[in-house]
Amino acid sequence: MAISEQTSIPSTPPITSNPTTSTTTSPPPDCHDSLMPSQFPAVPAVFGPVPNRAYHEGFMRKAIEMAELALASDETPVGCVFVHNGEVIGRGINGTNASLNGTRHAEFVGLAEIMAKHPQRILTQTDLYVTVEPCIMCASALRQYGIRAVYFGCLNDRFGGCGGVMQIHADRGVDPPYPVYGGLFREEAIMLLRRFYVQENEKGWRQAMKTAREVSLTKRLFAAPEPKPKKNRELKTEILPVTNVNPTANLTRTSTPAG
Ligand SMILES: [Zn+2]
Repeated sequence: MAISEQTSIPSTPPITSNPTTSTTTSPPPDCHDSLMPSQFPAVPAVFGPVPNRAYHEGFMRKAIEMAELALASDETPVGCVFVHNGEVIGRGINGTNASLNGTRHAEFVGLAEIMAKHPQRILTQTDLYVTVEPCIMCASALRQYGIRAVYFGCLNDRFGGCGGVMQIHADRGVDPPYPVYGGLFREEAIMLLRRFYVQENEKGWRQAMKTAREVSLTKRLFAAPEPKPKKNRELKTEILPVTNVNPTANLTRTSTPAG
């Protein structure tokens, strides 16, 4: 329909000094206005109670097994499974070392498996079990994909996006937040990471010793001093408890995952 003089957009009225009566001084609406966080359901505390914990621990055990596979593959031991209607539909281990690709986190590996077989909307009825808190990158992707819930083992105190550093899962945003439950098999998840770092240190030290033996005596005298083992090669087994349950509060740092 052609716009007649009667239906065309009226000319802009003069700006008045009273903002309550002006129609031109208000900022234009943006996409966030209709999606204020207050309209989203509140998410529980990250280290709060886990409803039906035994059920979820069964799937977290599978995630731990994936992390053990990562450790055996010389990857940072992070593993995950995605579960839909009680069935694992995606699984992943950290693959950044083998691929030399810093985005090959366990969650992205698992998401790729799901996307190859299912429509994206299946994720809105899917839960993620991952041994280490999702990083900021993964936490954001999971929110954009509409993951139903995330269960994790230990905090990611360097890059965590679900309470460890940032609260991507619950921050103000366009996409609905998702609940996160931390602490399932936390000790196992931490010990896997510690075993990895000890393992990597020992490998580095052995390689340095091998290199030193291979160089000529002259070169060793002038350029390659005998390497010394790092002081922190021993495996520490003490695990401090998480001291609070509020994701926005000051969280105890106990792990140092790489991604
Ligand atoms: Zn990640």
